[in-house]
Amino acid sequence: MTFDYDDQNIFAKILRGEIPNQTVYESDHALAFKDINPQATHHVLVIPKGPYMSLDHFAIEAPTEEQAGFMAAVGEVCKLLELDSGFRAICNTRIHGVQEVPHFHMHIVGGEQLGQMLP
Ligand code: AMP
Repeated sequence: MTFDYDDQNIFAKILRGEIPNQTVYESDHALAFKDINPQATHHVLVIPKGPYMSLDHFAIEAPTEEQAGFMAAVGEVCKLLELDSGFRAICNTRIHGVQEVPHFHMHIVGGEQLGQMLP
């Protein structure tokens, strides 16, 4: 598998400041912002600042420092949203995972009972 990142995707444009976003948290390695079409009380997307198209691309090719920075940002978002009762983290990937935006992102969804994982 080779990974071919397209820097014209909407999250790349958000990272370049070309499109506004509702930032929840930002660090050197990651940005977290509210999903424009929330599926629950809390719905935040956490993205790395580097050019990775998917979870497997990020896990295979991102330097350890970027991976650690991303996971630290996930932790900060969980703290900020006070997700003590739990949440769901989702990384839709390519065709079978129905990934719409080809920049790696983790959905953090919570704030209410979410039901079963798959319908
Ligand atoms: P996925 O199917 O995992 O690629 O989901 C992409 C997500 O990005 C969807 O939940 C969209 O609602 C969300 N989204 C698309 N454009 C924006 C935007 N400009 N700001 C925030 N969220 C967005």
